[in-house]
Amino acid sequence: MDMDKLVSLCKRRGFLFQSSEIYGGLNGFWDYGPLGVELKRNVKEAWWHDMVRGHDDLALLEGAPEPFEMTGLDCTIIMHPQVWKCSGHYDLFHDYMVDCRESKKRYRHDQVCGRWVEAKGQTVFIATQQGGEEGLAETQQRALKFFNFRGKDIDQLQWHGPLVSLTTVKDFSRVLGPEAKELGTLTEPREFNLMFKTYVGALSGEEGAAFLRPETAQGIFVNFKNVLDSTRVRVPFGIAQMGKSFRNEITPRNFTFRSREFEQMEIEFFCHPKSLPDWYKFWRDRRYQWYLNLGLEGERLRLRDHDREELSHYSCGTADIEYAFPFLPPGEFGELEGIAHRGDFDLRSHMEGKLVRQGDRLVVELDSEGKPRHRGSGKDLSYRDDLTDERFTPHVIEPSAGADRATLAFLCQAYTEDEAPDENGKMQSRVVMKFHPRIAPIKAAVFPLVKKDGMPEAAQKIYRDLKKCFNVFYDEKGAVGRRYRRQDEAGTPYCITVDGQTMQDQTVTVRDRDTLRQWRVKADDCTTEITRLIEVGCQTPTRGV
Ligand code: ATP
Repeated sequence: MDMDKLVSLCKRRGFLFQSSEIYGGLNGFWDYGPLGVELKRNVKEAWWHDMVRGHDDLALLEGAPEPFEMTGLDCTIIMHPQVWKCSGHYDLFHDYMVDCRESKKRYRHDQVCGRWVEAKGQTVFIATQQGGEEGLAETQQRALKFFNFRGKDIDQLQWHGPLVSLTTVKDFSRVLGPEAKELGTLTEPREFNLMFKTYVGALSGEEGAAFLRPETAQGIFVNFKNVLDSTRVRVPFGIAQMGKSFRNEITPRNFTFRSREFEQMEIEFFCHPKSLPDWYKFWRDRRYQWYLNLGLEGERLRLRDHDREELSHYSCGTADIEYAFPFLPPGEFGELEGIAHRGDFDLRSHMEGKLVRQGDRLVVELDSEGKPRHRGSGKDLSYRDDLTDERFTPHVIEPSAGADRATLAFLCQAYTEDEAPDENGKMQSRVVMKFHPRIAPIKAAVFPLVKKDGMPEAAQKIYRDLKKCFNVFYDEKGAVGRRYRRQDEAGTPYCITVDGQTMQDQTVTVRDRDTLRQWRVKADDCTTEITRLIEVGCQTPTRGV
């Protein structure tokens, strides 16, 4: 699928706009238009329903070691600065950046790659931001230009190995930056903390400094005790939260995939350390299945276990759910969700102070005077099992998903080009967004065939009846074939048309977006029919998974 076509459809049909577009946009920020807001809301509602509100606390779900409870939370974006000191984000949540003195561009160190090439007695590293075939083609073009060669001189270039990451390069004086003409214009890598800093109240100095949350998870940990004390939940149980997070990404890119403001859907699942491996497997499989149930294709979706080196500072095991986004080189996947085993790192850090790993133990990090480097709250965040009387600090499995990345994956998956007959029965090419009915922004559209003979009135009645249950759309403008096509692009699964026959026998046509099948139902039965169709379309597989 051509990503440019999807990006242009998103703008044309109102799924996504660049933020502050009339002022030239702001890199890394995106707005959801009228269709996009419905789509993303449906994704979030499906998650909230399946994970929280629709969760059956009493049932033993397939793969789960025992029944468990789920509850929700909605915390603030700005929290006490100590939260981020104890969580490790203050010291460790950074990427390395390099700046180009010539082009004035900034890059993430690990996102630049390149190839060593030798010619005219000189060996240089030609850097690029592209991977795969595109990266190879770009480095070749730039090497020819750098050595002042023409296309026919290509054999004079001696390549030393494949494309490799800039992180493997020690001597930057021999690097040709991705947008530079001269060698050695990239600076040495420097740390760059990804948290946005702001100031609370009238205090402008460090005293008033605070951060926009880079993840929603910490709000859950710091409220752990409140949830325990205000509800009757017992371990094992999960707390879910969705909301905005902010990261000052060095190079936001790939449409909404890497944004600076985005929404997360996170669960912290608290369990006894002994049952951890079973719960970890349960959540990995359950979350993977959730995306499949909402229409992501098995071949483009995969579960990948992290290598030991990749694990975050707290994690003993992590798996990613990844999708083969069309903007990535063939064979590459992008993260949709991480399922991490965080152990008791977070609860203990908020009790005792920021922890560090010492051998296979986690201990409080001390400063030069032997005091905790970042002091914890001192509050007891352990749990006492009232049946066994055992007291312990629960361990945590964290399924952490991005609402925007999921929405983008559903957009990519839905985009289809095929053919459908026009009014005269002639096949015409069409673009159709084949969203799963559960997340489709509009569930049904209602059309009068023509604007006379009582058809608009009959169609409007159906529209108003349906509106009580679904997001529906009424359209009476233009040829009916064009109206179908507009709904295909919006991903509307069903269109209802009121025509001449309706006036005689009170039946209407229902058209299926994907199969193009048309059939007649009684006008009064439209709500029942669309409800039935959406339920069949959904097959409600996510419930109880
Ligand atoms: P990446 O390696 O792609 O930066 P991450 O491993 O840092 O992601 P997590 O910290 O695990 O991501 O965040 C959990 C989820 O939040 C991710 O799986 C993703 O869906 C979403 N997310 C993280 N960063 C961004 C971003 N900059 N833009 C959009 N979504 C994001």
